Amino acid sequence: MPKLLSLIISLTFGLTSIIAQSPPQSDSRMYDIIDAVSAERIQGDIEKLVSFGTRHTLSDTVSNERGIGAARRWIKSEFESISESCDNCLEVKYHKGLVKEGESRRIPTETWIVNVLAIKRGSQFPNRYIIMSGDIDSRVSNPLDGESDSPGANDNASGMAGVIEAARVLSKYDFPCSIIFAGLSGEEQGLFGGKFLAADAKDAGWDIIGVLNNDMIGNIHGIDGVIDNTSFRIFSEPMPPNSSEQALIWNRFYGGETDGPSRQLARYVDKMTSQYCTNLKGTMIYRLDRFGRGGHHRPFNDEGFPGIRIMETHENYTMQHQDIRTENGIAYGDVIEGVDFDYAAKLTGVNAICLAGLAWAPKQPAFVMIGGAVKPSTKLKWDPVDDENIHGYKVYWRNTTSPQWEFSKWVGKNTDVTLKNIIIDNYLFGVASVNSQGNESVVVYPKTLIPRR
Ligand SMILES: [Zn+2]
Repeated sequence: MPKLLSLIISLTFGLTSIIAQSPPQSDSRMYDIIDAVSAERIQGDIEKLVSFGTRHTLSDTVSNERGIGAARRWIKSEFESISESCDNCLEVKYHKGLVKEGESRRIPTETWIVNVLAIKRGSQFPNRYIIMSGDIDSRVSNPLDGESDSPGANDNASGMAGVIEAARVLSKYDFPCSIIFAGLSGEEQGLFGGKFLAADAKDAGWDIIGVLNNDMIGNIHGIDGVIDNTSFRIFSEPMPPNSSEQALIWNRFYGGETDGPSRQLARYVDKMTSQYCTNLKGTMIYRLDRFGRGGHHRPFNDEGFPGIRIMETHENYTMQHQDIRTENGIAYGDVIEGVDFDYAAKLTGVNAICLAGLAWAPKQPAFVMIGGAVKPSTKLKWDPVDDENIHGYKVYWRNTTSPQWEFSKWVGKNTDVTLKNIIIDNYLFGVASVNSQGNESVVVYPKTLIPRR
C-alpha cells in the first residue's frame, strides 16, 4: 500500500508541475457582494433623483431644489460621502463637454453636458478600466421640454441609483484594475455625455475592459402584459462598427461574426449571472440595442471599446418619455410607482459582481492564434500574459450555433494547446486568463492563424 500511495503522490506532483492546479470554480466574495446590495438604498436614491422635479438636460442648473444642476450636485455629494467612509477610496469629479448652438436639434442653445464620475483607482493597473454607467438626465413627450415634471424614475434614475449603490458596495474591496462609476448626461438629447467621455478616454489612451451601461433596470410590468422579475436583457453588437475589411474576410473564412469584444463581454455577464445569481436569468440579445433605439454604450462602441446595455426584459412604453397625464383611462409617465426596487437591486448585483470579477481578473490573453484545418485536433497559441495575477488559462469552445461557451478546459500556464480530437470545423474557440481565485477575463476570440511550418 505505501508503494501505491507514493506512486499516487509522485504522479500527482508530476502532473501539477506541468499544469498548475486549477483555481476554485467560484469566488465566495461574489455572494457577499450580491447580498450587500440594498433595495432600500436604491429606493431612497431613486426617490431623491425624482425629487428634483426634472433632470432634463436643458433644465435649471442653478437651483438647489429643481433641475439637472441640483441632481448632479447631489450625485457628486453622494459619491463623496461614500468616499469618506472608505478612507477617500474614490476620485470624484465632474466631466464636461460643451454642445454649441446649432450642433444638435435637441440642444438649441449652447449647453454644458456634465457627467459625474467616481473612480476606484486600481492598485496595479490604474489605466485599465471597467465602467458601470447610468444616466442623470430625463425627458417627457417633447424632447426639448426642460420645464415640465420629468421624474424619469425608471429611465434612468433606476440605472443611476444602481451605479451609486454598486459604488457603495465595491468601495469595501480593493482591485488591481480601476472601476469607474459613471453618471452620464445628455443621453436623451443624443448620447452626448457618453460621446464626450468615450472621446476623452480614447485620447487619454484608457485601456477599457468594458462598459456596462444600465438604462432602465426597474420595470417588471411589461406593455405586453407580462410581469417578470426573473430575467433581464444584455444587448451587444456582434462586431465593432469600425471593423476592417480584413476582419470581414477573416469572419468569412474562419468565423467570428458573432464573436466581437462586446459580444464576449455580454457572454461574461450572462455566465456570471448563471453562476452567482439566484432566480435571475440573463437573456442575451444579439443586437446593439433595441430596434432602432439607442443607449450610452454606443458611443463607446463607436470609439472601439467593448460595451453592452443591461436592462429589464419587459418595457412599458406608456411609462417612457411621456408627459404625466391620463388619457383614455391609461396613466402615462415615468413615475416612481413603476419601479420595482428589489428587481433593480438584483440587476445592480449582476453589475457589481461583473465589475469585481473583471477588476480582479488578469489581463486578457493577446495575439491568440488558431490552427488545425484538415487535422484531427485543434491548436491554440497565444502570448503569455504579463500580469502577476495570472494563475493560468482556460480554453473555451462551443458549437457554431450556440450563443454561449459550452465547453472549457483548464490548461494551466500552457500557452500552446492542442485539443485532441476536437475538429476545428465544428466549433468556435476562445481563451480566457484566470487568477488564483478563479476570476476570469473576458474570452478572447482568435484572429490569426498559427503559421504552418
Ligand atoms: Zn430614455
